[in-house]
Amino acid sequence: IIASGLVMGMLIIILAGYYLARRAMVPIQASWEKQQQFVADASHELRTPLAVIKSNAELMLRHPEHTVEEESIRVTNVVREVRRMTKLVTDLLTLARSDVNQTELKLEPVNMGEIIDTVAEQFVPLAEMDGLMLQAEASQELELTADRERLHQLLVILLDNAIKYTPSPGNIKITGGRQGSNIVVTVEDTGQGIPTEDLPRVFDRFYRSDKARSREKGGTGLGLAIANWIVEMHGGKIGVESKLGSGTRFSVTLPAKKVT
Ligand code: ADP
Repeated sequence: IIASGLVMGMLIIILAGYYLARRAMVPIQASWEKQQQFVADASHELRTPLAVIKSNAELMLRHPEHTVEEESIRVTNVVREVRRMTKLVTDLLTLARSDVNQTELKLEPVNMGEIIDTVAEQFVPLAEMDGLMLQAEASQELELTADRERLHQLLVILLDNAIKYTPSPGNIKITGGRQGSNIVVTVEDTGQGIPTEDLPRVFDRFYRSDKARSREKGGTGLGLAIANWIVEMHGGKIGVESKLGSGTRFSVTLPAKKVT
């Protein structure tokens, strides 16, 4: 009886151990699958510009008789794709490092109002070139402890998208204000909008709602994934509202931590 009791006890312990180990593996497996998907998508994305570079370079090699004008079209194609790849690789590195928590925030007291003004100033000429009007409206007292470079990067991503996906004539507005103990930044445009069914996925890596326009404008499909990561690293939240054909509004809420 004692022996069979012992065997039963051991069996129960083994089964419970197995069950617990399996349960513990679920998140590991999910994250492994996510990583595999990321690598597969990244390779796929890198193949397109590589194929364009290869075909253009081969054509140049095969046809030395081509005129300077013909050659310059090929070189322009190559340069455009090299730029695209450079951006893609930079974005991939940012996300790969974020996955292994290799990026440390350089926290310091920053004023969100100043960052909004700086980024807006940078973007006004770009917006004007595309026939768009860009307005910035930031209230004072937007101090928080944060990584200045990363917040700058976040606003660049949102304004860059607003310009990319707003046809002329159109308006873009960036605002910064306080809501209780939070700082809220919004980027609003009167652009093409995002279909409701796509909204939950726009922060996913490589997800593009408008593939053609993203590609034409040199998008990587990684901007909003990076934006989401930056906001999360600062303990905040990012949200999106959009109406197809009327415009889009991204809102970022960040805790205004006490500046020490
Ligand atoms: P991309 O490099 O393609 O712009 P993002 O991750 O920055 O990638 O954005 C994902 C997708 O969300 C875009 O491809 C686009 O379809 C959509 N999107 C992002 N911002 C806007 C916007 N302001 N207006 C309309 N669509 C947008």
